[in-house]
Amino acid sequence: MMICPKCNKEFITTNSTKKFCSSYCRRTYYRQKYKVFNFAPNVNAGTKGAISELLVCADLLIKGFNIFRASSPSCPCDLVAINNGKPYRVEVKTITGCLKTYIPPNLDLEKFDVLALVYSDEIKYWRYESDKWENVFTEADEHKIKGFNGTSQSPMEGIEENEEVNVP
Ligand SMILES: [Zn+2]
Repeated sequence: MMICPKCNKEFITTNSTKKFCSSYCRRTYYRQKYKVFNFAPNVNAGTKGAISELLVCADLLIKGFNIFRASSPSCPCDLVAINNGKPYRVEVKTITGCLKTYIPPNLDLEKFDVLALVYSDEIKYWRYESDKWENVFTEADEHKIKGFNGTSQSPMEGIEENEEVNVP
């Protein structure tokens, strides 16, 4: 017997990873949890982009980075995130109505180190490495930097080994 965290009803399931009684409860639960990401429907594209950038700034500050914002819209990337003296060039994109495996086309991979994709309910950070996209700055990394596991290492430690970071 499981208890749905949304409606508090008990439900029976044979799937031990199932957390909610229904897809309705799952959707509403996460929609409320990530309310801050639900853009006002009438906001124009430019403002949406600006909101996304600010959300990424706040998220990375919470994760323990120092954040520097571009002083001109023609800068090659949107933000620079620094942790333990290491800079990462961050490009921010707003993603609406797509699967979370979708990476926007026509990206200039020379211009950033980390791609921040802002979805309607969360932010994911991607890095292109060895011909494929991988998630970085994950929740596990976040715990690491906050010292929850007894260390205070860089969230990119391990990922960044043997690699030079180029700053524009
Ligand atoms: Zn429920």
